[in-house]
Amino acid sequence: MRHDGTVQLTWSDADQAFREELRAFLDENIPAETRNGFDFQGQASSGELIPSWLRVWQATLFDNGWMIPGYPPEFGGRNASPTQTMIYLEELATRRVPRATHFPGYAIVAPSLLEYGNAQQRALVAPAIRGDDIWCIGMSEPNAGSDLASLQTRAVRDGDAFIVNGQKVWTSYAMVAAKCFCYVRTDPDAAKHKGISVLIISMDAPGIEIRPLRHITGQADFAEVFFTDVRVPAANLVGELNAGWSITQGSLAHERAGLWVESVARLEQTVQSLVELARVYGKAEDTGVRRKIAAMAEMASSLRALGYKGFASYAQGSSAPEHSFMKVASAESGKAAFELGMEILGDHGALVDPDIGAEAGRWVTSFYINFANTIAGGTSEIQRNIIAQRVLGLPRK
Ligand SMILES: Cc1cc2nc3c(=O)[nH]c(=O)nc-3n(C[C@H](O)[C@H](O)[C@H](O)COP(=O)(O)OP(=O)(O)OC[C@H]3O[C@@H](n4cnc5c(N)ncnc54)[C@H](O)[C@@H]3O)c2cc1C
Repeated sequence: MRHDGTVQLTWSDADQAFREELRAFLDENIPAETRNGFDFQGQASSGELIPSWLRVWQATLFDNGWMIPGYPPEFGGRNASPTQTMIYLEELATRRVPRATHFPGYAIVAPSLLEYGNAQQRALVAPAIRGDDIWCIGMSEPNAGSDLASLQTRAVRDGDAFIVNGQKVWTSYAMVAAKCFCYVRTDPDAAKHKGISVLIISMDAPGIEIRPLRHITGQADFAEVFFTDVRVPAANLVGELNAGWSITQGSLAHERAGLWVESVARLEQTVQSLVELARVYGKAEDTGVRRKIAAMAEMASSLRALGYKGFASYAQGSSAPEHSFMKVASAESGKAAFELGMEILGDHGALVDPDIGAEAGRWVTSFYINFANTIAGGTSEIQRNIIAQRVLGLPRK
C-alpha cells in the first residue's frame, strides 16, 4: 500500500533486483541436504540436534549478508528494507530452506542485546547470529509459563557477582547451548513485573545441571535446567537492574513482521500434500475430505492476505494487529491439517513404525510437532485473550 492509499501490485525495480540476487545466491549455494526442500517435520528423526551442515549454512548466510538482511553487514545483513526482508523470507519459505533450526540466538538474543546490551555485550551479537555461539532462553519455570512474571529463580548480589538459585523448564537447546539469556528475580519485594532482571549465564558454570526432556515424538530438544549457587559476574546483567520485563517485550518487531510468511508457506505446502495424499489413498472424491481440504486452502489464502495487510501497516510505521491472529491461526491450522492427513490414511494414520505405518508416520509425527506450536511462544488460549482484549476491545473478565 502506498502512502496515498493506492495499492501497488508490482515490485519496485530495486526489490526485483534484490530478489534476483537472492535467487542467484541460493541457486549456487543451497546445501545438498535442502535442495529439494528441508523436511522441517523430519527433524524429529534426524538424531543430531543441530546438524553440522546447518551450522555451516548459517555461517555462509551470515558471511554473505543473507542471514538477517535488514541488519548491517557486520551483523550478517545488507541493510535491506522491510519489503526486501519479506521477499527474502518468502523466497526461503517457498524453497523450504531454513536459515537455522536453533532460533534463540539470532531471533531473540541478538535483537535484545542490540537494544539493551552495553558495548561488551553487543560484541556477542555477531557470533549469536552467525551461529558460532548457541544460546538458550531461560524464561519458563514449573510455576511460571503463561504467567511469566511469576518466575522465582532468584539472583542475589554478592560482591562483583550474582548468586543464582532456581529452576527453568522447557529450555530449548539447553544441552548444546554455550550461554543462557536468563530471566531471574532480583527484587522479591517489588510488584512481580518490577523485580525481574536478565543475566547472561555461561552454561558450563559450576552449579548448573541440565536434564533433557523428551517430546512425545522421542526427540529431546529442550530440558530442565537447575541452578544451585551459580556465580554469575555482575557485568553479565543486561540493561538496568529490575528492568527485565521491558526486555521480554523486546525489539523483535522487525523479524516478527515477516515471520508469518514462513508459516503460511508451510500451510500451503501441507494443503498441497493433502491433495496428493487424498488422490493416492482414494479419498479424492470423498465429499467430507474435499470440503476439509478446501477449507484449509481457504484459510491459507486468507492468512496470506491478512499477512500482507499487516505487513503494509507495519511498513508504514503503524502497529499491525493482524499479526496477533497469525500465530494462533497458523498453529491451529497446521495441527488440523496433519490430523486430516492421519484421517485420510485411515487405520495406519497413527502408526510410526516404517514397516507398518503408511508414510513412515510422517503425518502423525507432524501432528505432534504442530501441537507444540500451539504452546511454544505463547499458547493459543493466551493469544485469544490478547486478541479479545487488545484487538476486539473486549473487557477482561
Ligand atoms: C516446543 C517448545 C519449546 C519451548 N522453548 C522454550 C524456551 O526455549 N525457553 C522458555 O523459557 N520456554 C520455552 N517453552 C515454554 C513455553 O513458553 C511455555 O510452555 C508456554 O509459555 C506455556 O506455559 P506453561 O507450559 O507453563 O503452561 P501454563 O501457563 O501452565 O498453561 C497451562 C494451560 O492453561 C492455559 N492458560 C494459562 N493461563 C491462561 C489464561 N490466563 N487464560 C486462558 N488459558 C490459560 C494455557 O493456555 C494452557 O493450555 C517452550 C515450549 C514448547 C512447547
